[in-house]
Amino acid sequence: MALGGNAILQPGQKGTFEEQYGSVQQAMEGLARLVLSGKWRLVITHGNGPQVGNILLQQDAAKGVVPPMPMDVCGAQSQGFIGYMIQQALHNVLAREGRGDIPVATVVTQVLVDRDDPAFQNPTKPVGAFYSAEEAKRLQAEKGWHVVEDAGRGWRRVVPSPDPKAIVEKDAIRILLAGGAIVVASGGGGIPVVREDGAYRGVEAVIDKDLAGERLAQDVGASVFLILTDVDRVRIHYKKPGERALERMTVEEAKRYLAEGHFAKGSMEPKVRAAVRFVEGGGERAVIAALAQAGDALDGRAGTQVVP
Ligand code: ADP
Ligand code: MG
Repeated sequence: MALGGNAILQPGQKGTFEEQYGSVQQAMEGLARLVLSGKWRLVITHGNGPQVGNILLQQDAAKGVVPPMPMDVCGAQSQGFIGYMIQQALHNVLAREGRGDIPVATVVTQVLVDRDDPAFQNPTKPVGAFYSAEEAKRLQAEKGWHVVEDAGRGWRRVVPSPDPKAIVEKDAIRILLAGGAIVVASGGGGIPVVREDGAYRGVEAVIDKDLAGERLAQDVGASVFLILTDVDRVRIHYKKPGERALERMTVEEAKRYLAEGHFAKGSMEPKVRAAVRFVEGGGERAVIAALAQAGDALDGRAGTQVVP
């Protein structure tokens, strides 16, 4: 299952540890019920947008004191931070219910991308701090960053968002699962790496967490790929006359709706694309649902079910 970033840090919150841990605890109450039902074994992935955004801001603010770390390292930090919260909160709930014996482990996960992915020629994903026009120009010249004006709020760095090709740690993840662990992996879409002369190297990019989650779901042989977010169902004609929430859509219907542009880029569109990929790749079904309805969504009674 893929947990949306808003499951951890909600809009309007400051982003203190207490706020984030509180949201994680609440989410883990629901996920623990799934585990305790005995019907499901979980592999969890999660977003990291707000967290890695703050880590990038810290690099910038403290650059005169501590050398700034590259984006791949910031991504790794966010996986550790969020994985820690999930591990501890989920264990605590399971232990309270007498199942503290179930292992929960986070895998710092690299995700392979293709050096020739066209996304590298066309960076689109805004990350980190807002800058003035002069600062932005200087960073462009000094660091070779691509910068764009972001919705009138100032200038921001944009990075490529390449397609995930393979989960580097997939064998390690499978071994943990086979041993009965609940695994947290590929957080924030994974740490993007390329392969050169047989060696991996981190790159400055951001992989979409829903598409990376789909890759992970395939690699672990998941029967269901559950995407948990802040809307109860996928809608067509979203926020327009004739808006309709969908209980179910076939892959054919989903592709038609994608082509017709019903889903916003960067939010719902990658979820529907990931759902289509999962089912086309042989998965039983994918479900897009609200975090609070995870159990009903898995049982087919909530969310949008995407089926062959
Ligand atoms: P997450 O952090 O879970 O990935 P996103 O913000 O990326 O969340 O995606 C969920 C958002 O997608 C919803 O809050 C909703 O506003 C937006 N959205 C865009 N198009 C649609 C649509 N057609 N149906 C439902 N939600 C949509
Ligand atoms: Mg998203």
